[in-house]
Amino acid sequence: MKAALLLAAFLAVVITALPAQQSDSLPEARVSLELEVPGIPDAVSVNVPPVKQEQMEASTSRWVNLTIKQGDNLARIFQRNKLSASDLHNIVALGKPVSSLKKILPGQELGFKITSSGELLAIRYKKNAFDTLLINRQDQTFVANWESATPETIVAFESATITKDNPSLYHAGKAAGLSDNIIMKLSHIYQWDISFALDLRAGDSFSLMYEEIYVDGEVVKEGSIIAATFTNMGKRHEAVRYTDIAGRSDYYTPEGLSMRKAFLRDPVHFSHVSSSFNLRRLHPIHKKVMPHRGIDYAAKRGTPVLASGDGKVTIRRQNNASGRYVVIQHGEQYTTKYLHLSAFGKGIKPGQSVKQGQIIGYVGATGWATAPHLHYEFLVAGVHRNPKTVSLPKALPIAKDELKRFRDSVSPVLARLESISGKGYASLPSNNRSSGG
Ligand SMILES: [Zn+2]
Repeated sequence: MKAALLLAAFLAVVITALPAQQSDSLPEARVSLELEVPGIPDAVSVNVPPVKQEQMEASTSRWVNLTIKQGDNLARIFQRNKLSASDLHNIVALGKPVSSLKKILPGQELGFKITSSGELLAIRYKKNAFDTLLINRQDQTFVANWESATPETIVAFESATITKDNPSLYHAGKAAGLSDNIIMKLSHIYQWDISFALDLRAGDSFSLMYEEIYVDGEVVKEGSIIAATFTNMGKRHEAVRYTDIAGRSDYYTPEGLSMRKAFLRDPVHFSHVSSSFNLRRLHPIHKKVMPHRGIDYAAKRGTPVLASGDGKVTIRRQNNASGRYVVIQHGEQYTTKYLHLSAFGKGIKPGQSVKQGQIIGYVGATGWATAPHLHYEFLVAGVHRNPKTVSLPKALPIAKDELKRFRDSVSPVLARLESISGKGYASLPSNNRSSGG
């Protein structure tokens, strides 16, 4: 009973403590500033191409469009374009609605509507893909108005295979045209199940569906991964995103089990780990001095080492063999050890609680090591075990009374991923896109 309670408490900590790294649907709320906007046609013309306006009003005015350069500010731009300093003063005096103009960035677009006699009629400032500021002359002064573009979400599909030429998740993902951002998100979904640092094999493959956010026909942002499947050493791992009744989004297996586990597969991010060729060279060193009971990750000195699970630091010490090392106790049963560190993480000392993924130290070559690497050990009830084969506590599954809602929500998504990816991914073109969703 006591053990069960402890485990439950431990899991609760694991679950609540995890970072909300997948909660990234649509951006920061956009404030639309409702100022008095008279019936000036341009106030609502953000989506009308400038050319059209030029044609309409060619006789009296024209748009001058420019891209902001390094070191530009509004005053310089006004000067350069021979615009009135008093107009600039009146525009800046509008205050908060135009405060973005003080923070213009190189590469952003700025347009001026100027009459044939050089009088400024309007300014259009494209702050980002979503937000445009329009400033229109009204008699002797100006009015400012923000417009928000309506983004459209398209579902994209990609599929890739690990090969000799593309031996890592990163290389295979890039070869399939995925961005760093999506590759990172994919690695986060599977960080408890697959060792991207050590366990990828030629022939492993993955498919994923993810959101792309479009404005005016252009991708402006990538959204979340909706569903993915990863076949690693013959085992297929499916994951699907689900937003529960409480509004919390996370990834689950098709059966409704959480993808999250009490321990990360790799205590060093896969993108920092060198090829397994280097790892094998390190082994003889250990074999001379002690039986090798851990996993070695070859990585550059200074690479962050992460706590693989929530727990409490029991040892932070240095000796001849292990160099600088940290031991973490996780609940009653589990212990992890991290050896040969170049430095300890901030605040890491005996008694200190740590969260899964927290930096506890940095890769080094202290102690009996000839090259920088992390030697990682995983013990259950004091016995060295292979974290790959030991059965580990899992995070809470979908609640029984929510299972129907879960299935109704994810079934169509999984069916779609299945129909697009099929069982044999190899024959697919690498760049299928389908709209909808
Ligand atoms: Zn080792």
